[in-house]
Amino acid sequence: MSSNQTDVVFFDENGLRTDQRKPDEIRPMKIKIGVLSRANGSCYLEWGGNKVIAAVYGPREAHPRRMQLAGKAVIRYRYNMQSFSVEDRARPGPSRRSSEISKVSREAFEPVLFAEDYPKAAIDIFVEVLQADAGTRTAAINAASLALVDAGIPMRGLVSACAAGKVGGKIVLDLNKPEDNYGEADLPIAMTEDGKITLIQMDGHLTPSEFEEAMALVQQGCRQVLEIQKAALLEKFASVMDDEEDEV
Ligand code: ADP
Repeated sequence: MSSNQTDVVFFDENGLRTDQRKPDEIRPMKIKIGVLSRANGSCYLEWGGNKVIAAVYGPREAHPRRMQLAGKAVIRYRYNMQSFSVEDRARPGPSRRSSEISKVSREAFEPVLFAEDYPKAAIDIFVEVLQADAGTRTAAINAASLALVDAGIPMRGLVSACAAGKVGGKIVLDLNKPEDNYGEADLPIAMTEDGKITLIQMDGHLTPSEFEEAMALVQQGCRQVLEIQKAALLEKFASVMDDEEDEV
C-alpha cells in the first residue's frame, strides 16, 4: 500500500478499472468443493488471480495432548503461502504476516463453530495459497468456510470475506494486485450470514466518511460472496443427492 503513486492510472474514461470491473464489482470466483480425499472437508477456490486450497480435519482428538481444552475444542487455522505463489519467491515457513493472518482468520470462525460441543477435540483448518494476487486472506476464509461445511462440521452459518479499498481517490470493491500495491487503503472483512463482522483489518488511510462508504460496500461484497458460496454448495450437494437417488 503506497500513497504516493499519483502516476498510476486506475480508471479508464468510462470509470472502469484496469481489469474492466466496475468499482463495486468483485473478481470472478470459481469453487470446487471436496477436492481432497484424505481431509474430512476441502475446497479449491479461485478468485481473480488467487488460487487457494483449504483442508479441514476434525473434530478429532487434539494432539499434542497439552493443546486439549477441557471444556471445548481447540480451533486451529494455518494460512500458508507456497513459495511459488508469488513472483519473487516467498520465503517458506511461518512469517509474522502468515501468523497474523492465521490468528485473525481463526477468530473469524470462532463465533460460528460449536467448539463447546467437542471438549478435548481439535478442529484443524489448513489453507495453502498456490497463487497470490491480492486478497489471499479473504479467498482463504471463503474456501475454509466451504471446507468446514464439506467436513460436516455444524456451524451457525457460513463466513464470507471480501475487501474494499481506496484507489485513485475512489472507494472500490475487491482490490486486484496493482490496486493493492499502489492504492491508498485496503479494508478486508469477514462476515457471518446474519451480518456480524468477525474480522476487520485496515491498511492505509481513510477518512471517517470514506470508511463508512467502504464498510457499506465491503458488506455488500460479502453478501455477493455468500451467494456464490451457497450456489457452490447447492451444486455439490445436488450431485450427492442425485447419486443417492441412483443408488435406491
Ligand atoms: P492479502 O493477500 O490478504 O491481500 P497482503 O495485503 O499482505 O494480503 O498482500 C497482498 C498481496 O501481496 C498478496 O496477495 C500477494 O500477491 C503479495 N504478497 C504478500 N506477501 C508476499 C511475499 N512474501 N512475497 C511476495 N508477494 C507477497
